[in-house]
Amino acid sequence: MTTGLIDLHIHTTASDGTMTPARMVFHAAGSGLKAVAITDHDTVDGVSEAIAAGKEAGIEVVPGVEIGVDYPGEMHILGYYIDHKNSGLARGLSCLRRYREERNPMMIEKLRELGFDITLEEVAGIAGGNVIGRPHFAALLTRKGYTADNREAFDRYLGAGKPAYVKKDRLSPQDGIKMIIEAGGIPVLAHPRYLRIREDHSLKELIHELRGFGLKGIEVFYPEHTPEETERFYQLASATGLLVTGGTDFHGTNKPGLKIGTGPGDLRVRYSLLEKLKKNIPNPSKNNGSLRIY
Ligand code: AMP
Ligand code: ZN
Ligand code: FE
Ligand code: FE
Repeated sequence: MTTGLIDLHIHTTASDGTMTPARMVFHAAGSGLKAVAITDHDTVDGVSEAIAAGKEAGIEVVPGVEIGVDYPGEMHILGYYIDHKNSGLARGLSCLRRYREERNPMMIEKLRELGFDITLEEVAGIAGGNVIGRPHFAALLTRKGYTADNREAFDRYLGAGKPAYVKKDRLSPQDGIKMIIEAGGIPVLAHPRYLRIREDHSLKELIHELRGFGLKGIEVFYPEHTPEETERFYQLASATGLLVTGGTDFHGTNKPGLKIGTGPGDLRVRYSLLEKLKKNIPNPSKNNGSLRIY
């Protein structure tokens, strides 16, 4: 058995992180990690660069992606070992990015109505031509002195339900999971605390439903999970026969206070979890290009 620590949830400049894929991989290797997964929002554009850097830096790189799906709380699905060159996946992700592009000008409009002198071009400039996310809006507000930091920008304006928030279109959970499976990947429910489900039986019911759609795992280890939540989600994974994963959701300086591979409460994600995940890699996708939901 390989020992060592890993981080299976990381964003780069391909979406709303602040380190390039290569820099992130070298940073992870320098921090002593054995493996990292690159899980950008709605894009696999950073995967090839990360894999190449992994070979150079001597660290295992897991290709991945993170997508938000339609749910009253917040439901994000991670896809591990997706074939990042799969044409069906490319079509699906470009559709999700289009939903973002439809949302962005609406958020600009709301922020301008709130009195902020900002433009979409400025936000796009911060994103550097990559996938635009709310952290880029936050960075712009902060850069212009409208907010003290990204946290304040989310708390006052950009967070769900706040005045500049605009909900983007999303796939259903079933279609999101399907997209990942059809790209040869392993779908895992990210940070279940953000589902905001209090009752154990409701949560279990939902997980059973998602498992019926093909969900294979739950992200149990996550910096914002309390020790009680971690235990709750661990038990849930055991009870429903799902794999356990974990990661920090590292975003570089766009999400301050996080260190790659570690977190509060002595958060550590062990390589043995990745070994179990790898045993669940499906046979190479025979469906390349067959995705019909778009
Ligand atoms: P988007 O995909 O554009 O809706 O943005 C989602 C990203 O915004 C997440 O991955 C987080 O990095 C960040 N985010 C969401 N909510 C908050 C919050 N309340 N405080 C700080 N960052 C947040
Ligand atoms: Zn993000
Ligand atoms: Fe997420
Ligand atoms: Fe994330």
